[in-house]
Amino acid sequence: MSDRIKILSESVINRIAAGEVIERPVSVVKELVENSIDAQASSVNVEIENGGRKLIRVRDNGTGMSHDDAFLALERHATSKLKSETDLVGIATMGFRGEALASIASISRLKLLTRDESDTAGTEVLIEGGVLRKSERMGMGIGTAVEVRNLFFNVPVRRKFLKGPGVEAAHIQELLIKLALAFPTVGFTYSEDGRTKIDAPAVRSTFERIHTLYSKDVRENLVAVDHHVGDARLHGYVARPPYARSNMRSVLTFVNGRSVRDRLVNAAVNRAFSNLMERGRYPLAMLFIELPSDLVDVNVHPQKAEVRFVSPVQVSQLILDGIHQALMGAPFNPPPAPVEPFFPRSPVTSLASHIRGEREPEDIATEFPQREQPQVGPTPIQITPPLSEAGGKFSSLGIVGRLPNSFLVLHTDDELVILDHHAAHERLIFDELMRTESNASRPACQDLLIPKILQYSAVEARALAAHLDLLQDAGFRIEEFGEREFVIKGVPEWLGNSDVEELFSQLVDVMLNTGLRGDPARFKEEVLKSMACQASVKETMTMQVEEIRMLLNDLDRTGSPDVCPHGRPLVVRFPFSEIRRKMGRR
Ligand code: ADP
Ligand code: MG
Repeated sequence: MSDRIKILSESVINRIAAGEVIERPVSVVKELVENSIDAQASSVNVEIENGGRKLIRVRDNGTGMSHDDAFLALERHATSKLKSETDLVGIATMGFRGEALASIASISRLKLLTRDESDTAGTEVLIEGGVLRKSERMGMGIGTAVEVRNLFFNVPVRRKFLKGPGVEAAHIQELLIKLALAFPTVGFTYSEDGRTKIDAPAVRSTFERIHTLYSKDVRENLVAVDHHVGDARLHGYVARPPYARSNMRSVLTFVNGRSVRDRLVNAAVNRAFSNLMERGRYPLAMLFIELPSDLVDVNVHPQKAEVRFVSPVQVSQLILDGIHQALMGAPFNPPPAPVEPFFPRSPVTSLASHIRGEREPEDIATEFPQREQPQVGPTPIQITPPLSEAGGKFSSLGIVGRLPNSFLVLHTDDELVILDHHAAHERLIFDELMRTESNASRPACQDLLIPKILQYSAVEARALAAHLDLLQDAGFRIEEFGEREFVIKGVPEWLGNSDVEELFSQLVDVMLNTGLRGDPARFKEEVLKSMACQASVKETMTMQVEEIRMLLNDLDRTGSPDVCPHGRPLVVRFPFSEIRRKMGRR
């Protein structure tokens, strides 16, 4: 009964540790490639077979190891990267625990081949399930090769949870793409069962690396991000909406050179795109966050995919501002733009009144006499040539005409461009609401001759009452009036003659259903989105050339990406070359 407590054997300890760090083949690749990078390799070659189960081989031209170090490296807690405890702060290398090689060797058949410059011959060590099987000297160049065969042969539980080889391989490829982006000056090759999947020679910049890793289609949509606040920096690339992907895996983020998957970072990226993406669509981004090492702890997680920031709020803001600056040339909460005010004299009011059959003010009406209204079908207005040198992206478009369903037909020198007027108008109103929202000046308000009284259920009334300030900021004059009633005395001019009751019933819906009350800023945006949608024109059949011009000028001024606040594209383009081809002409 006396010796129930046993000291675990070294090999059991290693296997336990391995279970924590090595979950699947991609974990092995990560540890090995990070070692190669730590060893200053300028070229790393990765091969796998059968999803990494049968073989993982990583070769590098780094510093290599001496004969003695080769053996030491395979022992637990042997590391050349951490000399003292104080080194734990501000670790510059990737690995530091000194347990990866020992762990992997305890759950596979691992062969290490290595040679450093102090040696004339290389060292080969073979370990099987943590047991040394063979070691010999052999001729080789400087560098290291690690071969891992039969991974998890002695850990049936892990083996059982592995996915098919295709899935495991996909994880490995994704990891290597991230590493390749983070280390453009290192050349990477990767093959699966003898087929080359990545061939990325060493280059000087991330930009050049993106060129090899991504298709033209992606590259054409990327804009550069570069934003500093004090010692903190965000740089990289994001794809301009409407370019989008169907899951969050397309958002690659790095903190101080390390690929991370962090909730805070992801939330900030999503937030930056929140009124630029359709629901269920995600941005494509490669973002590098650089922080002084005392402001971030990258060693929270054994696999170092998570990080802890000393000032999370600042990091979120850095991401938001950086992305918005890149997409719109303005920080997230733009200061009042030094442009002509969009309200009150804008196409918004004039268009809205047009549609609702109102007459324009005298001067406008006489200056641009009304055309005859066709019943159906497209209406040619006139073809004005695009003024290529006129600068503005939208304002330089030539106007062809209008189609039913709110589409306008425009053109450049080499493309036919269809603009969704409703979506464009929505974007303009939304941006303007966001701007007034952030600079505290309320949009002009129009008094109603007869105040409108709205009645609600108790729940609805409570929701509305809680958000009166938001409505007032947007230009409504609204007050509580009895227990479940509200009186609207004035509406913002941008609303035109939109149906106020309809708008409010939508707003109350948003207030009750978005589930965003914990996030006031996002909630506000949702409300503003509904307002913008409700107030924007639904059709264009009455639009005059001059109104279209005004709209295009206004679109140039917003500088937002070409999507409506719900993320739908404002324009689709048909290159003349394509039309010519379809017409059978060359
Ligand atoms: P860690 O990377 O945390 O130090 P590892 O078990 O991954 O722990 O590696 C142990 C040691 O082996 C490293 O500190 C390094 O000195 C050496 N080493 C591992 N891989 C390589 C390599 N590819 N080239 C040179 N040295 C290596
Ligand atoms: Mg390591």
